[in-house]
Amino acid sequence: MRSISIFGATGSIGTNTLDLIRRDKGAYSVVALSGAGNIALLAEQAREFNAEIAITALPERLSDLRDALAGSGIEAAAGADAIAEAATRKVDWGMSAIVGAAGLRASMALAQHGGILALANKESMVCAGDLLLASCAAHGTTMLPVDSEHSALFQAMNGEDAKGLRRLILTASGGPFKDFTTEQMRGVTPEQAVKHPKWNMGQRISIDSASMFNKALEVIEAKYIFACAPEQIEVVVHPQAIVHSMVEYIDHTIIAHMGSPDMRGAIGYALHWPERAPNPIAPLDFATLGSISFASPDEEKFPALRLAREALSMGGHAGAIFNAAKEAALDAFIAKKIGFLDMADLVEKTMYDAQLEPIRDQAQQTLAQIFAADAEARALVNARI
Ligand code: NAD
Ligand code: MG
Repeated sequence: MRSISIFGATGSIGTNTLDLIRRDKGAYSVVALSGAGNIALLAEQAREFNAEIAITALPERLSDLRDALAGSGIEAAAGADAIAEAATRKVDWGMSAIVGAAGLRASMALAQHGGILALANKESMVCAGDLLLASCAAHGTTMLPVDSEHSALFQAMNGEDAKGLRRLILTASGGPFKDFTTEQMRGVTPEQAVKHPKWNMGQRISIDSASMFNKALEVIEAKYIFACAPEQIEVVVHPQAIVHSMVEYIDHTIIAHMGSPDMRGAIGYALHWPERAPNPIAPLDFATLGSISFASPDEEKFPALRLAREALSMGGHAGAIFNAAKEAALDAFIAKKIGFLDMADLVEKTMYDAQLEPIRDQAQQTLAQIFAADAEARALVNARI
């Protein structure tokens, strides 16, 4: 039996992961499941999978969680420290699927088990790529990307020599505002931004897809995971979201990964790696699909991609600052305190804020420094709102 934990179990990635586990329950023993405000779902999951411990991120909800788990023998805990502690409990396979930099501690703990770290939390790579990968290497942990693009790239590189790599081509659906003018985008609401045309995801990543901040994070994520130069990473808009990404080799051969836009594809790959196993996602029917298309992203309309490249060239803690500024700006957009286009503006101002220079430029990554950079960036964004 394989021991597993899922951090962010109640979210979009978490429930999709449990959907796959549910089909072969006898093969897994569940150690920890974490969530936040949806206590009913967390308790239901913990009972169904007979988890050892369930943790809510919200300390004020601990008594609700205890009540919901009464009589089950399942431990209940709450708060960020409790999540980090639960992530140190040894597992063969750990899913990091909390949203935001809040997931970094769980990723770092799961990297120490010597098993598999299934990484959906791209923010961990953006904020602490060097640190996380060094920890995986030191502990013999295999990091498998769960972001669909990075899983696609990983699969397209199977058995290939990194020396032969020419380009990584990340696909982007373009989101709901692909054909909007800048003027039209100025007035969009969070309710409009959350409606992704192709993928069914959590609220925050859906809005990040609409602003292209999601793709921006993914460019930084790819740079760390595949240890390539930023210039080797391209983004192409592909509205049908069938090609999940492509790798070009020095002989100009391109290997593309295709499939239905369903995260259970990438999750299932990480769950069964290095083998392949049947998956409930819909098979592709090319005749029905008819045609697929590609276009260049409009970096004038969507400055997030340019900002990500600037963060990459700054190095140091620029990734953590970029991500934290984006998270704080996203909070403000969701709360309707700022407009859609203000998000990129705030991120740009924060990245270049003179106050952050000494933190940003530190070459060595430590967790404490990353959290300090994160907190400073959020404070600067909030001071500007
Ligand atoms: P979601 O909002 O649906 O779920 C987030 C999970 O994290 C929930 O379980 C929630 O309870 C928990 N959570 C929220 N705030 C927390 C906090 N402060 N501390 C601890 N737990 C907290 O998000 P999602 O769409 O499942 O995304 C999860 C991660 O996976 C993100 O990093 C996202 O970028 C990445 N990802 C998601 C998809 C997707 O299809 N949903 C695809 C690729 C990558
Ligand atoms: Mg993705």
